[in-house]
Amino acid sequence: MLALQLYGMQSLKASCAGSASASFAKKKVRTLLRRFTIAVDFPSMPKNSSLQRNTPLSAGVRRELLQSAQRVMKHAHAPYSKFRVGAAILLADGRIFSGCNVENASYGMTNCAERTAIFSAVAELGPKIEIRAVTVVNDHGVPCSPCGACRQVIYEFGPDATIFFQGANGPKQAHITELLPEGFRLQ
Ligand SMILES: [Zn+2]
Repeated sequence: MLALQLYGMQSLKASCAGSASASFAKKKVRTLLRRFTIAVDFPSMPKNSSLQRNTPLSAGVRRELLQSAQRVMKHAHAPYSKFRVGAAILLADGRIFSGCNVENASYGMTNCAERTAIFSAVAELGPKIEIRAVTVVNDHGVPCSPCGACRQVIYEFGPDATIFFQGANGPKQAHITELLPEGFRLQ
């Protein structure tokens, strides 16, 4: 909190440097500090993502997810982008569902692999699924993390999910809150 207060003080001092009234600047500093204090101490503030992480997956389960994503990727309907994507999701009960991207001549109708997998799971099991992990692959072997829309959909069913994908420097994993820091749920 001290660091935030100092930062707030510094930035406001800078922004008020050209102000004609020193007392006006002081008042703004006090207001800003109050706002910082309230924000940092707010009791229902979401916990830091590092505190929410679920337990690591075994190498066997990760391999199963990867193979499932690679298998389903071949079913992709991607005649326009020529970019096939496969995704596999692991549910809290151990079940795995997979999905591929399905494009359309009306481009906006295209559905991503991650959402196809999630919607398949919901269609099969109902809405009370809990996503533990998501693995995404593509047939170009290029960096490809879930898009913004998919991150929000993953968060809806897996606010503690771990995401495995191809990063700029090779395979990468990230907590969903790292990919989507301000995800929200209404229930
Ligand atoms: Zn997407």
